[in-house]
Amino acid sequence: MRIAIAGAGIGGLAAALSLHAAGFDEVTVHEAEPRIRSLGFGLNILPNAVRELDGLGLLDALEQRAVRTRELAMYNPYGNLVWREDRGVGAGYRWPQLSVSRSHLVDVLAAEVRRRLGDGAIVTGARLVGLDHGPGGTSATFTDPAGTLRTVGADLLIGADGIRSAVRAALHPGEGPPPANGTTIHRGTAWAEPFLTGASMAVLGDDRRRLVLYPIETDRATGRTLVNWVAALPDAEADDGHASVLRHFGGWSPPGVDLARLVGDTPEVHHHPMTDRDPLARWTYGRVTLLGDAAHAMYPAGSNGATQSVIDARVLAWHLARNSDPGAALRAYEEERRPQMTELQRSNRSMGPERVITLAHQRAPRGFADVREVFGEEELAEISRSYAETGRFDQDRVNSRPSLSVRRPPAAMESWRTQ
Ligand SMILES: Cc1cc2nc3c(=O)[nH]c(=O)nc-3n(C[C@H](O)[C@H](O)[C@H](O)COP(=O)(O)OP(=O)(O)OC[C@H]3O[C@@H](n4cnc5c(N)ncnc54)[C@H](O)[C@@H]3O)c2cc1C
Repeated sequence: MRIAIAGAGIGGLAAALSLHAAGFDEVTVHEAEPRIRSLGFGLNILPNAVRELDGLGLLDALEQRAVRTRELAMYNPYGNLVWREDRGVGAGYRWPQLSVSRSHLVDVLAAEVRRRLGDGAIVTGARLVGLDHGPGGTSATFTDPAGTLRTVGADLLIGADGIRSAVRAALHPGEGPPPANGTTIHRGTAWAEPFLTGASMAVLGDDRRRLVLYPIETDRATGRTLVNWVAALPDAEADDGHASVLRHFGGWSPPGVDLARLVGDTPEVHHHPMTDRDPLARWTYGRVTLLGDAAHAMYPAGSNGATQSVIDARVLAWHLARNSDPGAALRAYEEERRPQMTELQRSNRSMGPERVITLAHQRAPRGFADVREVFGEEELAEISRSYAETGRFDQDRVNSRPSLSVRRPPAAMESWRTQ
């Protein structure tokens, strides 16, 4: 049973490990870039995905360079607290929430794919440029950086090639590039003194702008933290890196953070438009399916994009291991995941849980002394609770749902070959 995965990002690598753990060992990940390389910006991985990464035996390695997130605190630009909640273990989850560098997460996943499936399981410099699928089988054509084409046959093909997925484009020709929402995101990391609990995610904003800060690593010797920051503002007001960020956010007051110094100490500021994808009516065609951002890219609010890619990977492997017909398994995966992800993509278009910041600004643009002047007793808790429900990461579900660890009997696999 030869499984080809396009894209060695978080979703593709997690899929390779999940499939291997489920008993599939002919899995190859094809990555367009000449080497596995990820920018070091931060990600928050929610406990539902950390549970799955733990199930794959990766938690210790991840925690070598990560922070267990203790709280989420949201503010208006003046630093008035709109909402705070415990996160991870402190909120009653059996697994932590991790704030981690994307490059560390990808490095851990890639090293384990190579260790468990062999060095040849990741082929770099292999960009998928063509796809042929039908009753006779599935094949994908890849190009290397020199332009040499190579066609690979597979019994299953998984498109985990991100927001600009070539697999998605082949299945849905004419869709075009991902739509942008008119917001530019600036990102950077810099070492700084710890702020708030030392493991807090702070989100500040009004109705148009957002500033997000959280530590992704702690230097045990000095106690200083590597802070990941994201600043989002309308395209028309955005220009070059550091100066643009300080002009628009320099007067804001994230508690305990010297923002001018943090931005000044940031070696490199990257900026790009905020994009997502429209929900799709279908992910699966025969023995080809989509996973992660290729299937459901969403705006970065609520820490769910990479989190849900990991869940996709585990659910996909689970259905493939439990179903005697691979096409039916892919459809079952899609039936389970697509409606949930459609809901989440839609929620993130109104900024998911960060909606409370927009509401606070609309109701009290000059700030407030006490948040109870602005929100009813249960309103904020309800927004948080309902987003966790939409993302299926509420405590009860994460702690007590059945495990997604599974193993398929070896004899069941030979019958799936198509070629
Ligand atoms: C500012 C920002 C903050 C974010 N914060 C969070 C967060 O806190 N928590 C969270 O869970 N998510 C977050 N996300 C979302 C998260 O980054 C994505 O959802 C996640 O990276 C998706 O993983 P993926 O593997 O599906 O895609 P990607 O990470 O995009 O990986 C796709 C891979 O496919 C490769 N590829 C592309 N085209 C081809 C091709 N034709 N052939 C072969 N390979 C190809 C790419 O080189 C890449 O390696 C954030 C996103 C942004 C922009």
